[in-house]
Amino acid sequence: MHLTIKNQVDETKANGVFSEPELTRKDIVEDHNIILTTNKECSFKCVMCDLWKNTLDYSVKEGVILNQVKDALIQLPPAQHLKLYNAGSFFDQQSIPKHDTFAIADLIQEYETLIVEVHPKLIGSDCFEFSKYLKPQLDVAMGLETVDPSVLPRLDKSMTLDDFERATTAMLEHDIFVRAFILLRAPWQTEDEGVYWAKESIDFAQSIGVECCTVIPLRPNPGNMTFEFHAPLTESLDEVVAYGISKKKGRVFGDSWDAI
Ligand code: SF4
Repeated sequence: MHLTIKNQVDETKANGVFSEPELTRKDIVEDHNIILTTNKECSFKCVMCDLWKNTLDYSVKEGVILNQVKDALIQLPPAQHLKLYNAGSFFDQQSIPKHDTFAIADLIQEYETLIVEVHPKLIGSDCFEFSKYLKPQLDVAMGLETVDPSVLPRLDKSMTLDDFERATTAMLEHDIFVRAFILLRAPWQTEDEGVYWAKESIDFAQSIGVECCTVIPLRPNPGNMTFEFHAPLTESLDEVVAYGISKKKGRVFGDSWDAI
């Protein structure tokens, strides 16, 4: 738990509700509605992750996340696509009770796509059962972070590349599209190494069937001082994204997540 430096959040409200345009698989830009739910902190506690800042220290009761989503949907404009991010894993029942995930599915039947985030170790029967029940197409985003063998094991992510590939393959077999979050200049990398390994990470992701890569510049994590933070250059982000797009193997975005 990060008790001292967390922001005050309110379990009766989603932590973020907004809309932004994004290129779709149909190669057109369409609005995506985004809801950042307020829930328990992710149990993985990766070295570089600052998402804990806007989380609770306890699991909420059944219905609480559902109500956050209901209220948020009323505030949002019409859109075909919805991202429901929970600063952790959508299928972590400490974060979102299973009943709420299905009740949310009932609420969003008019959407064409639902995008959620999940740790690869939590991809399994809950995910496949949910996808089958859900009317919109399910896209699952997972943090690949980096394929750098000298960094990935040190991130405390409890994940190997085999875990990531296994989860990806299983989801593709269940007609779920997969996105990967890739870090630009992961901890302990120099600027040049950061660019090199972000490109390698895109190559790996695309080679195993990931359809969309989002490159995220490293942010400082005040809850973990085991690495020295150096903000990656904007030019590096542009270079990595341009490289990924040039491969023509799927969508590649750069996202500083400034809104979070
Ligand atoms: S699994 Fe994802 S949300 Fe959880 S600590 Fe790691 S990066 Fe953050």
